[in-house]
Amino acid sequence: MEYPDRFDVIVIGGGHAGTEAALASARMGCQTLLLTHNIETLGQMSCNPAIGGIGKSHLVKEIDALGGAMGLATDLGGIQFRVLNARKGPAVRATRAQADRVRYKAAVRGLLENQANLTIFQQAAGDLLVDDDTVRGVVTETGIRFLAEAVVLCTGTFLGGVIHIGLDQSRGGRAGDPPSNALAERLRALPFRVDRLKTGTPPRLDAKSVDFSQLEEQPGDTPTPVMSYLGRRDMHPRQVSCHIAHTNERTHEIIFANLDRSPMYSGVIEGVGPRYCPSIEDKVHRFADKASHQIFIEPEGLDTHELYPNGISTSLPFDVQLQVVRSIKGLENAHITRPGYAIEYDFFDPRDLKHSLETKFIHNLFFAGQINGTTGYEEAGAQGLLAGLNAARRAKELEAWWPRRDEAYLGVLVDDLITLGTKEPYRMFTSRAEYRLLLREDNADLRLTEAGRELDLVDDTRWAAFSQKREAIERESARLKASWVQPGTAPAEAIAARTGKPLSREYSLLDLLKRPELGYVDVAHLAGEPVDDEAVAEQVQIQAKYQGYIDRQQDEIDKLKRHEATPLPTDLDYARVEGLSHEIRQKLAEARPETLAQASRISGVTPAAVSILLIHLKKRR
Ligand code: FAD
Repeated sequence: MEYPDRFDVIVIGGGHAGTEAALASARMGCQTLLLTHNIETLGQMSCNPAIGGIGKSHLVKEIDALGGAMGLATDLGGIQFRVLNARKGPAVRATRAQADRVRYKAAVRGLLENQANLTIFQQAAGDLLVDDDTVRGVVTETGIRFLAEAVVLCTGTFLGGVIHIGLDQSRGGRAGDPPSNALAERLRALPFRVDRLKTGTPPRLDAKSVDFSQLEEQPGDTPTPVMSYLGRRDMHPRQVSCHIAHTNERTHEIIFANLDRSPMYSGVIEGVGPRYCPSIEDKVHRFADKASHQIFIEPEGLDTHELYPNGISTSLPFDVQLQVVRSIKGLENAHITRPGYAIEYDFFDPRDLKHSLETKFIHNLFFAGQINGTTGYEEAGAQGLLAGLNAARRAKELEAWWPRRDEAYLGVLVDDLITLGTKEPYRMFTSRAEYRLLLREDNADLRLTEAGRELDLVDDTRWAAFSQKREAIERESARLKASWVQPGTAPAEAIAARTGKPLSREYSLLDLLKRPELGYVDVAHLAGEPVDDEAVAEQVQIQAKYQGYIDRQQDEIDKLKRHEATPLPTDLDYARVEGLSHEIRQKLAEARPETLAQASRISGVTPAAVSILLIHLKKRR
């Protein structure tokens, strides 16, 4: 049958990409259908119940700055929050939250069900309606036809999914869920480049069988960080600790002795796995000289005894998994509640996509999430938001929108994927961004919320909160700039006591704040009233301290923009360009970019390297 209502946008798949895509499209006023296998698994975390971390929290905050759900769901479901790299510079600081799997999922579902213009329907999509190289709608596996202007495909690991536990295989999208084989076959018949990747998950443990006295406790941070710009601590459920355990030589011996029973090492799995999230057999094999690996023992939620041992993802047979777990101090009597497994799945070469995430071959069809070769909820959510908003813009006959590399990690992610493709599951790192100092997790709202408002993604509540914060930052920075401390006064003595150096002349509070040994709390009260909003104070402090570096980075961006179109001669001998590292020379020689802009987008080619190229070109003339 043909469904009587026509939609502007259909999103297939209710995982992390699909939920952000559907919400974005609906927020923009488009009639949106979210078609997914199972309403109970909306927002389900297939693997680790945690959101954020290095590079990833930047994406969560960007999704949040554009009105998305992931940050708020994390604040509603997070049971342990920490800021990683807290002692390092703000560019690499990253918030990470352990989430209660059930509460997180419930929060996502709540946001979806309360979103205007959004209809949810539970059924598997089996086919796409394609006519004249343009997608027109979707047919479910039971034959219901839904028509729409644009379709966003977010089917995760489900396309042609094969689960491996030891040498046993079964078909599945993830444990307990069916694969999407009909759709996978249909997509393989379209002109996309398809390949296989794999990922894995560890066995889960019963906390009642774990001896926590043998493990190191890791509490969350106090005060507890929040993830969303609209988040508040009182949204968080009860907070709990994680624990740390270690593998040992015995663990490694067991793994080595059973490698022939691993589908990875016996050649059964062909897909490439995530280099940065390897299985324990991979780690032990690759780092054979390491006597121990850390394992984070993380709670799966507040109402369950299940634990997630982060660091022992495996596809070894169950009997070996049990031996591995029980060889670890504190886990000698551990009971495994669910075996670990690996999954192989189809992904599409993201070089067949445009920056908007629309496919190059089928108009109005967008791909987002794990099917583009990425791994991680955050990477999926960020792409979902971008694909959803562009599908909505297509339905409204508006131009596509995407952020540049110097505006957002989302810009880096998409640009990396569509220009370079990927041979292994792609995850975000701060090192992938050339302009890390500009792209901090603390300023994602300042970078993107205004654009989000123009795109109709940001509602009145968020816009009001953001505008208020932005004005407060400007007001407070201006106040510090206009407030002076004179030598010989009580405030000057307070500064001398803090720094060990008397003030030689008059200083503004803003100049004092630039000193590395002084923070906002040290200077803001010395004249007038400090603000009591932590986020405002943090922003004023970061902007003051890093302004010099930030300005320099901005200059670099401006300079590069002026030279973006500069052609690189086809016969350029990169080996003779002085100052380039061997690795960069090799990459450039292989890729032979046509312009400086293209060169700058090759991963590992730094802005400094581009400047060297520019100087070299000038010398050649
Ligand atoms: P998913 O979250 O997989 O969501 C896909 C959704 O689409 C599901 O709701 C599904 O039901 C629905 N769907 C699929 N096909 C259809 C269809 N035909 N019709 C209707 N609905 C459909 N990431 C890490 O960062 N680190 C890890 O260690 C890690 N390990 C993982 C281990 C396993 C076993 C798995 C399965 C995933 C792992 N991931 C890991 C990846 C992480 O789960 C994904 O990156 C993330 O969930 C991708 O989000 P997504 O929205 O693209 O897809």
